[in-house]
Amino acid sequence: MKKILLLLGGSVLLHTAVLAQTQPHYNRCGMQAYHNEMMAQDPSYAAKLAAQRNSLQAAADYYMQLERSGETERTTAVSAVPIIFHILVDSAQFNLLGGTAGIIQRCDSQIAVLNRDYNRQNPDSTKIPSSWKSLYGNVGIHFGLARIDPSGNCSPGYEVKIISGSTTTDGGFSSINQVKSASTGLAAWDVSKYYNVWCTNFLGGLNGLLGITQPKSDGATSTKMGVVILFNTLGCTAQDGVVPPGTGGTAGWPFPYNLGRTLTHETGHFFEIWHPWGDDGGACPWTPSTGGDDGLSDTPPEADNVYGNPTYTVPGGTITDACMDSSTVNMQPIGIACLSYMDYTDDDAMYMFTTMQAAAMASMVLVPATGVTGATQIGTVGENYNLTQNPSLLVACTSTSTGVAPSPTELNSSLSVYPNPTNGAVNVSINSQAEILNNITVFNLLGQQVAAVKGVPGLDYYTLSLSGVSKGIYFVKFDFASGSVTRKIVLQ
Ligand SMILES: [Zn+2]
Repeated sequence: MKKILLLLGGSVLLHTAVLAQTQPHYNRCGMQAYHNEMMAQDPSYAAKLAAQRNSLQAAADYYMQLERSGETERTTAVSAVPIIFHILVDSAQFNLLGGTAGIIQRCDSQIAVLNRDYNRQNPDSTKIPSSWKSLYGNVGIHFGLARIDPSGNCSPGYEVKIISGSTTTDGGFSSINQVKSASTGLAAWDVSKYYNVWCTNFLGGLNGLLGITQPKSDGATSTKMGVVILFNTLGCTAQDGVVPPGTGGTAGWPFPYNLGRTLTHETGHFFEIWHPWGDDGGACPWTPSTGGDDGLSDTPPEADNVYGNPTYTVPGGTITDACMDSSTVNMQPIGIACLSYMDYTDDDAMYMFTTMQAAAMASMVLVPATGVTGATQIGTVGENYNLTQNPSLLVACTSTSTGVAPSPTELNSSLSVYPNPTNGAVNVSINSQAEILNNITVFNLLGQQVAAVKGVPGLDYYTLSLSGVSKGIYFVKFDFASGSVTRKIVLQ
């Protein structure tokens, strides 16, 4: 709803809204509350936000213009965006994720969800009502697991750090930075090459939050840019995205947020698009001084977010809300965009980006324009272009030969073995992005091998079972790609 937003200018975002009104157990997204917190801290923040949204339609128009003329300027070098999942959980949460095998399935299925949703291939697009079908947008951005880390070493596309409890306990959004800190969480990988996604638990005032994003327009520093999602929304209960209606699928997901759409939604923010209702606490775009909008022309005016799985009441469309009528004309002839990934509905009640949402995001990975006929370059175009220029980071990797080997001291300090003494099992945690564990071997005091695990597949966390082994003192040898570390453990 671009026209009305432009009439009202920057004042539309000065309204201080609170978190969404009728709260279910979960809060779909923290962006609205985060922006309100930022505006309270920084008087210039509202104007910056408004300027970004006012530029979005121009960015989308620019992309559409290039696409129509065949000059999309997306060069042949465009490749999938490498994602690194930084998983920061305690032992119980690690188990809830399904352990290492579960994490691998979740990462793989999450990538599949993103690729379907961002390329008009989601199987539930059959639910799109007739009046919305022509607005079903194709973003055209692909995603893949990062297979090479910033040091040039192999990566499974995720890293795991086992912590006690949560790092986000003070309730403020600044506490999210703890997740992105090397000392209290896991540090970002080079944000100019990787899309950083942290998966963790939110506690305190952020309890129940599903996700929050710091995009480039937010002024996020090089160590903060990316998305944080509730750890167990990672992935989809079905690899093909088709889950029987009304079921939560596998235990471990916070139903109804079990189809990987939390990251689909937050990735929309990462590529600079916003909630269709404009984060204005329920006002309509034309409401003086308080009304807001997402800045895009094909999302109807909308009062507020929609939770749940609404029953559609508009023939061929969705539902209407308080902004249906601006006294002389029905402003929602096909309903509101509650079916968009950018609303707050259940994972199985959102199944499209609109054409303009898709075009605005696609413009973020365009190569910066250089004299395209009839097109006007705008400031934000191409801000994520670099993320699509690193195909070598996506190539499956099984060797550390290309990387810099850690020193023996670094190896030793990266390894945690606990509990010790133990009653039968020890957890092995490797807090290093650069190291790959190959084998674990257990010896008794006579140097005889009593247990061995071969081919531990380069994971960051492993539980070694010593059931059946007699009580006593043992040495556990960890063979890494670049050296070995031996630890003494007591089995009691
Ligand atoms: Zn959001």
